[in-house]
Amino acid sequence: MCKYLKLLLLNFLKLLLLIISLYCSSSLSAQVEYDGSDCINKQFQVIAHVAVDSAMRAPLYTQDTIATILSLTSEYFNRICLSYTLCEYHVLEDDYTLGIIKSQPVAVETRLRELRNRFSMRRRINIFFLESIADAECGTGTYQGISTLLDANVFLERDCEEGLHQQLAHQLGHVLGLLDTYSAEDIELADGSNCATVADRLCDTPADPYGQTYVSAQDSIRLLTEEIVTEFISECAFIYELRDPNDDFYNPLVANIMSGYPCKCFFTQQQLDLMLSNYKQSPIKHF
Ligand SMILES: [Zn+2]
Repeated sequence: MCKYLKLLLLNFLKLLLLIISLYCSSSLSAQVEYDGSDCINKQFQVIAHVAVDSAMRAPLYTQDTIATILSLTSEYFNRICLSYTLCEYHVLEDDYTLGIIKSQPVAVETRLRELRNRFSMRRRINIFFLESIADAECGTGTYQGISTLLDANVFLERDCEEGLHQQLAHQLGHVLGLLDTYSAEDIELADGSNCATVADRLCDTPADPYGQTYVSAQDSIRLLTEEIVTEFISECAFIYELRDPNDDFYNPLVANIMSGYPCKCFFTQQQLDLMLSNYKQSPIKHF
């Protein structure tokens, strides 16, 4: 009986994994039909700065692991012929505290700026693989960093719910001038009527309530009498039942790389176009 249950559970898990991978690949083909007519044809030679752990003073990742992460990340950008390869593997040796970014006594931004000033190479994309960053959701990347000499920097945390390559793709999206698909302050309407002015200001990424706490008057009443789901996702399916100010339901792309959900697998056409044009217009060319 126990054996049978185990087998059943195993098959269920296999099925779940299959559904998730199918979901990702179908999202990729359905949402992104980039014609590939415009290519950057660019291979960024990035520098990885890797923190060491506090116990053994060993690098958090080997050179091979980082090369693999970069190649997985590059797949998300291959529709605009852009890729990332490892040029230099630099271990932040001697001091494990360099990889632990706390918010006290010095602010997180200051600590990250110190790392940048000490170790970043100009005209390169510098990726810091750290142990932890206070108040960050897996990492941070400089918005429009590609347009400046020293700020093409990404900082990643080790403990992240999703794969590091997914988080890296998200932060590199910021470096290439993309915003998050969501905004806690401004409410993007589900009918798309204000899509060009709020959140990521792109209209092929539907309104995304991630991080929002807005509850309409009608939903306040519903919450008292009905069972309303207020979690955003379950197994990468969007299940949130609260509505926007027009009482419309949301239907965001939970698998979008610039979303906040741990299901990232594709960029939309407008996101790809924007990264492409930001790179082309950048006065500084990174190696
Ligand atoms: Zn972000």
